[in-house]
Amino acid sequence: MIYKAICLTFSILFFCCSGAQALELCGNRAQGSVISGKAAGLHKVILNGKEQPFAQDGSFLIAFDRDADITQKLTLLYEDDEQNYPVDNYTFTISKTSWDIQKINGVADRKVTPAQEDLDEIVRENQNVRSALETNAADASFWQKGFIMPLDQYRVSGKFGGQRIINTHPKNPHRGMDLAAPEGTPVKAAADGIVTLSGGNFFYSGNMVILDHGEGLQTMYAHLKETKVKVGDLVSRGDIIGLVGQTGRATGPHLHWGASHNGTRFNPQTLLELNRTEQCLSL
Ligand SMILES: [Zn+2]
Repeated sequence: MIYKAICLTFSILFFCCSGAQALELCGNRAQGSVISGKAAGLHKVILNGKEQPFAQDGSFLIAFDRDADITQKLTLLYEDDEQNYPVDNYTFTISKTSWDIQKINGVADRKVTPAQEDLDEIVRENQNVRSALETNAADASFWQKGFIMPLDQYRVSGKFGGQRIINTHPKNPHRGMDLAAPEGTPVKAAADGIVTLSGGNFFYSGNMVILDHGEGLQTMYAHLKETKVKVGDLVSRGDIIGLVGQTGRATGPHLHWGASHNGTRFNPQTLLELNRTEQCLSL
């Protein structure tokens, strides 16, 4: 009954089982966002059948992609002496997010419809980015210390999740947030982390930095004029990691800021909401 009361308070349906352990979820539960969770004595965290990393203190992240199902299933397994691993199952709903349609004109035709000889470059980009995202370089839960915007001053020139029509060609939804700023503007690390990719001169992303913040969370900084860090560096929140540019597929100087958690791309701006305790729900 207690659970039901809490559920109604938050206008969200939670079906919980034994409830032997306390679970806390913090953040905005919506398509395209990231939330954090915490529970004691964890053995495994499984979201919709996929195992999720968690920290020693029982903290973990859950990211919902742009088109995530409204109904989410979270399964927690707990350590115990007999290795029975008692289970709690939670089914909860997330809110739908409505996405923009974004029309972009003036992109060089070859960047919209790549030539045959560009395809090898695109494969190289995909492989480099994927392997950086799969690198677990962070040996600490850097993300727990909180996030800042990577630019002090900017104009949002492209939202996360927007359906993009480039030079009249329908393209994949935008998987990051575009922040327009003058070329050469310093780009800051949004949180402490380890550099897992720097440079690249990629076909789409241009020069890029990827930072690993622990527990499967990375942030990406693309189209940089130049990068100021190298793979393996430990950076602190606010450190300058590169300069705004327009390398790769860009129609003007801007920072494409992206975020990925355990293979799921989400709106990086939602990282800034993680530490807002008024958005926490105890189950
Ligand atoms: Zn972008």
